[in-house]
Amino acid sequence: MDTPVSPTVACIGGGQLGRMLGLAALPLGIRMEFVDPVVGAPAGEIGPLHIGELDERGVIRPLLERATVVTYEWEGVPADIVSWIEEQRRPPVYPPAAALRASQDRLYEKTLFRQLDVGTPDFLPVDSFADLEDAVAVLGAPAVLKTRRGGYDGKGQHVLRVPADAPVAWAALGGVPLILEAFVPFDRELSVLAVRGRDGSTECWPVVENHHSEGMLRRSNAPAPGLTPELQAAAVAIATRMLDELLYVGVLAIELFDVGGRLLANEMAPRVHNSGHWTIEGAVTSQFENHVRAILGWPLGSTETRGVSTMLNCIGVMPAPADILAVPGAHLHDYGKTPRHARKLGHVTVVADDADTLHDRVDRVLAVLPADG
Ligand code: AMP
Repeated sequence: MDTPVSPTVACIGGGQLGRMLGLAALPLGIRMEFVDPVVGAPAGEIGPLHIGELDERGVIRPLLERATVVTYEWEGVPADIVSWIEEQRRPPVYPPAAALRASQDRLYEKTLFRQLDVGTPDFLPVDSFADLEDAVAVLGAPAVLKTRRGGYDGKGQHVLRVPADAPVAWAALGGVPLILEAFVPFDRELSVLAVRGRDGSTECWPVVENHHSEGMLRRSNAPAPGLTPELQAAAVAIATRMLDELLYVGVLAIELFDVGGRLLANEMAPRVHNSGHWTIEGAVTSQFENHVRAILGWPLGSTETRGVSTMLNCIGVMPAPADILAVPGAHLHDYGKTPRHARKLGHVTVVADDADTLHDRVDRVLAVLPADG
């Protein structure tokens, strides 16, 4: 019998998501290597870090020779490099370039959702000030003007409270392709994470509830409080339609608005996602482990929960480890990044058997979690 060769996963991007993928891969005997332009990027402590632009063929080409499979950990990775790797045919790269491309343009993304019968906020493309005036006339106000490409963490957006805000919004964002969306008076923000294997098998974690401020995710509650089987089924249906349409392999996250129990899709991320960090301790199989299992063609692990969880991001400043670890059920993750205002430096996941205990533990963690300076 041949000795099985331990697989190597090449990951484009070496941020905290790459680092957590690498941490999940290690016990499975998988080596990971990373490409990132930043010396000292967080994943470099886990596996070899090759410094280069994320689409630098000279850096990526040698990796293709030893990698079993290629993946990426950021939706800003140039889609052309993923297409180029797909064209090489070996090794495979997942998720597919088509998913990355769709996620990089809000107009394509929302059009794809609609084509698959997934509800979205109403939207219109805007390429000129006249388009914006026409779109406001159709969609009304309030509305959200967004850049089609490149926006993240709430950047590249402007809310029009009234139609007369159009010139200010145009002055702020005009000049690049835009999209105007009707403002959705949602009850809460949710996300669904799903994973699809190379054989088409699919698993979904329970829908989680997300709290943002200043455009950044602060907290995820898993499962979303009051999650009904109907809501979970609706989210699973959305995720499954997207995964199957895109012949997707790996973890996909879809951000949703809950409007009176109806789900509208806001955006998708073709990668492991911040709102899935709770799965490391709060689920039987984490999003990171299932992503590597999926891309290697291995069986997927159960996405069932282990109790109830809350994930709190550490933004701008890290807490003292001992303060967090003094709280039962609290797990600290430090990404090893230099502190900077509005930067995600780590997270804390708090796990408990029941909602009341979780609540008490989260309060204790919040009391020692420093505010961003
Ligand atoms: P995005 O970059 O599209 O994820 O938007 C960032 C945040 O802005 C979302 O998490 C929502 O809180 C808010 N937002 C985005 N689009 C809309 C919309 N059409 N209606 C209401 N709020 C929105």
